Amino acid sequence: MWRGAAVRAVRGIGSSRAASGAAAAQLRRWLEGELEGIRGAGTWKSERVIASRQGPHLRLAGGGAGILNFCANNYLGLSSHPQVIRAAVQALEEFGAGLSSVRFICGTQSIHKDLEEKIARFHQREDAILYASCFDANAGIFEALLTPEDAVLSDELNHASIIDGIRLCKANKYRYKHMDMHDLEAKLQDAQKHRLRLVATDGAFSMDGDIAPLREICQLAQKYDALVFIDECHATGFLGPNGRGTDELLGVMDKVTIINSTLGKALGGAAGGYTTGPKPLIDLLRQRSRPYLFSNSLPPAVVGCASKALDLLMESNAIAQSMAAKTQRFRSKMTAAGFTISGKDHPICPVMLGDARLAAVMAEDMLSRGIYVIGFSYPVVPKGKARIRVQISAVHSDEDIDRCVEAFIEVGRKHGALP
Ligand code: PLP
Repeated sequence: MWRGAAVRAVRGIGSSRAASGAAAAQLRRWLEGELEGIRGAGTWKSERVIASRQGPHLRLAGGGAGILNFCANNYLGLSSHPQVIRAAVQALEEFGAGLSSVRFICGTQSIHKDLEEKIARFHQREDAILYASCFDANAGIFEALLTPEDAVLSDELNHASIIDGIRLCKANKYRYKHMDMHDLEAKLQDAQKHRLRLVATDGAFSMDGDIAPLREICQLAQKYDALVFIDECHATGFLGPNGRGTDELLGVMDKVTIINSTLGKALGGAAGGYTTGPKPLIDLLRQRSRPYLFSNSLPPAVVGCASKALDLLMESNAIAQSMAAKTQRFRSKMTAAGFTISGKDHPICPVMLGDARLAAVMAEDMLSRGIYVIGFSYPVVPKGKARIRVQISAVHSDEDIDRCVEAFIEVGRKHGALP
């Protein structure tokens, strides 16, 4: 009896192995087909390997030293700032490599609480909560806050993480045309039937370098009794006179209710994200937000970097101001040379070229002249709106910027983008 069962079981294992072998082979064929499709569509994203620290000057793996880098979100140059690195090392030594725990079980250290307090103070808000990334902060907030009785109104060009976060919630969803206040007003009128309305927008949009019309959004929010949420990943640390962000730049710090942002761009560039806003909201997120509840605490070294970056920004606005001057230098010189630069006053400077192939060959040619920039085309940006996105950092020198402009002029003439 036992022997028969054992034989059947062994046979079963054998046949399920064969089945899983067939399934694995089928999966492999399907994956190869998908990958071929991506290559065929010309949308394959390859990654260049950097063999040095992040900074304005890079060394690429396999050669390429002294490359001028214009494509990181290292807006303030803090990713390799000596004090930021030292703070990370100190936190690592004092608090260890990591917590091996989520926050509410055994993963909250004094440095996590200190950083949350510092973030809230920086943004002049009541409280803040840390996440492993801003992607997580966006994934967590809408579901925790909004019920089927509520409504969320989202700019159509919001970041993927906002779109995904909204997908996860059960609120009624409205998508308004990009920065179109007439459309937002119409949608707000329609949404009056719901209990609570939340307007969600990027503060600065990363593909176009354009800044949300927050003053008008806040006026509409007031008129139609709505809350305003902004994602400040491309604004925190450098927009506004003191680098507080889009709300400071546009004079509406007291009108925006919720801010989500990242520690992985201007604020040291390591990783991490957060929500800052009213204390009861932050308390609720600690109870209900799934990426917070079910994911590991931020590693101490990462907390150390961000904390030092905020100290540097709160001590002086000199770094933020210097970035604004560099941005102005690049934008005005490129415009004078005949290029069209999208957006306004933002260190994201998309050089609009239209044609996808032109953007790709010009970016390659720029690299052969030692300037690292990236071409974007469909589906990352709309068809016919291909561009090379240039990102300025406070640690670019005037000479770096001038070298980049000169290379653009040469390459633009060579490929017919300039007369
Ligand atoms: N929101 C915006 C607008 C972003 O650009 C990004 C990153 O690219 C994120 C959210 C996600 O930030 P993180 O890298 O901290 O997950």
